[in-house]
Amino acid sequence: MSDRPVVTRIAPSPTGFMHIGTARTALFNWLYARGRGGKFLLRIEDTDRERSTPEATDAILAGMRWLGLDWDGDAVSQFERAPRHAEVALQMLTAGHAYKCFSTQDEIQAFRDAARAEGKSTLFHSPWRDAAPGTHPDAPYVVRIKAPRDGKTIIHDEVQGDVTIRNDQLDDMVCLRSDGSPTYMLAVVVDDHDMGVTHVIRGDDHLNNAARQMTIYHAMGWPVPVYAHIPLIHGADGKKLSKRHGATGVEEYLAMGYPAAGMRNYLTRLGWSHGNDEFFTDDQARDWFNLGGIGKSPSRFDTKKLENLCGQHIPLMEDADVLRQIQAYLAAAALPTLDDATADALLSAMYCLKDRAKTFGQIVEKAQFILTSRPIVPDEKSAKSLDEVSRGILKQLTPQLQNVSWSRDTLEETVARLAEVHETKLGKLAAPLRAALAGRSPSPSVFDMMLVLGREETLARLADVSQDTDLD
Ligand code: GLU
Repeated sequence: MSDRPVVTRIAPSPTGFMHIGTARTALFNWLYARGRGGKFLLRIEDTDRERSTPEATDAILAGMRWLGLDWDGDAVSQFERAPRHAEVALQMLTAGHAYKCFSTQDEIQAFRDAARAEGKSTLFHSPWRDAAPGTHPDAPYVVRIKAPRDGKTIIHDEVQGDVTIRNDQLDDMVCLRSDGSPTYMLAVVVDDHDMGVTHVIRGDDHLNNAARQMTIYHAMGWPVPVYAHIPLIHGADGKKLSKRHGATGVEEYLAMGYPAAGMRNYLTRLGWSHGNDEFFTDDQARDWFNLGGIGKSPSRFDTKKLENLCGQHIPLMEDADVLRQIQAYLAAAALPTLDDATADALLSAMYCLKDRAKTFGQIVEKAQFILTSRPIVPDEKSAKSLDEVSRGILKQLTPQLQNVSWSRDTLEETVARLAEVHETKLGKLAAPLRAALAGRSPSPSVFDMMLVLGREETLARLADVSQDTDLD
C-alpha cells in the first residue's frame, strides 16, 4: 500500500460553516498529499438532506478556497453515489458477508431490555444472521454486515499507535436501511475505496468508526487505508473547541482580518511540530509535514500565537497581494471595500503600512491618514499635542517645505533643523506633525506620511492646523 501514490481527502459534512478543526484536518491532508506529489480530494458528505443546502456546501468551498487548499478534480457528492453504495451492500449480501435482517425496532428494543436485565452486552445479535433464505418473510429488511465475533481488530494508526478493539464489541452494523438508502458507515468506506484514498487523516472522534469500517474493507477484500487519527482542537480551558471559546468558523477569521498564510502556518503548527520551528512558509510546511510529527494530545487554540505568526507573514507578502486580501477581508467583515483611487493610494503606502501589522484591520487603521480627506479632525489625544506653541512651529515649517526636494533625507533634515532652532527634540515635533497629518496615533512615521501624501497635501494639512495661530 505504501508504494501507491498518495491520495488523501477531506470529507466534511455541510454544517453551514467550516469549522476550524475541519480546516486543520483539510490542511494536514493537503500538506501530506502535496508534499508527496499525491492527490488531495474533496468529498461533501451531504447525505443529511435537511442540512445539505447549496449554501452550506458553498461555505465549505469558500473556506477551502480562502485557505488556498486546492483539491484535485471535482468535489464528490456522497449523496449522488447512493446507488453505488447499495450495489456494494448487495455484493456483500451475495458473497455471504452481509445478511437481510427482518427484526423490527420493537424486537430490537426487547432484545436490549432482556440483555440489560441479565447484565449482558446490549449489542444487538440478530436472529437472521444465519437464517436460511427460505425462512425469509416478505417484509421490510435492513442489510447488516456480519462482523467478526471472536478475536480482535487492530487499527494500525500512525498517530495513536496500534489500537486494539475486541471483536465482541463490534455489532453487525446496518449498511443499507429498509428504504434502500446506505448508512454513513458504508458510504464512507465505498467512497474512500472508489476514490482511491490511501491515507485517511481525520479527527480522533472517528477512531471507533475505523474498527467498524474495517469490517467492510475486509468483507470486500479491499486494502485498508493508512489511518492517522488526530487529536481534536481544544480551547484555552482545555475543553473541546466550541462557540463558547469564540470564533470556530474559518470565515470568521477571514472577517477578523487574518491572512490565509498566517492561518495556514498556525493551523499546521496546531497539533504538529517540526523541532522548535514556529514560523514557516508553505514550501517548508509541504517539505516537512509528516504523520510522525503529529502530537498525541489535544492542542489548545491560542489567538496570541496566531496573531504573532500573522504579524510575521504580512510583511513578507507582495503589496498587491496584501491589497487583494484586504479587499476580501473588508467584504467578509461587511465593511465598504476600497474604490480604485483609494486602493491605489493604499498600494503606494503599503510599504510603510504592512511592516508591523498582525491583521488587515490594523493596516486599514494605520492607513486612515490616506483614507480620510481634509480637513483632518484630530482625535482627543492628538488634539492635545496641537497646542499654540506646536502650531506656531508647524506654521514656520510650511514655507520651509515649499521648495525643498521631496525626499526622506531632505524632509528629515528640514524638520530636524527646525527642532534645533526651537531647542526642542525631534521626537517632540513628531506628535503635532502626526496630529496634523493623520489626526490619530496609529499611523506610519511622519516622514512616510509626508512622502505618501506628497507636498501639496502635506502643506495643506499643516496649513489647516496652523493658519489660525498668531505665533510666527
Ligand atoms: N463527515 C465526517 C465529518 O465531518 C468525516 C468523515 C471522515 O473523515 O471519515 O466529521
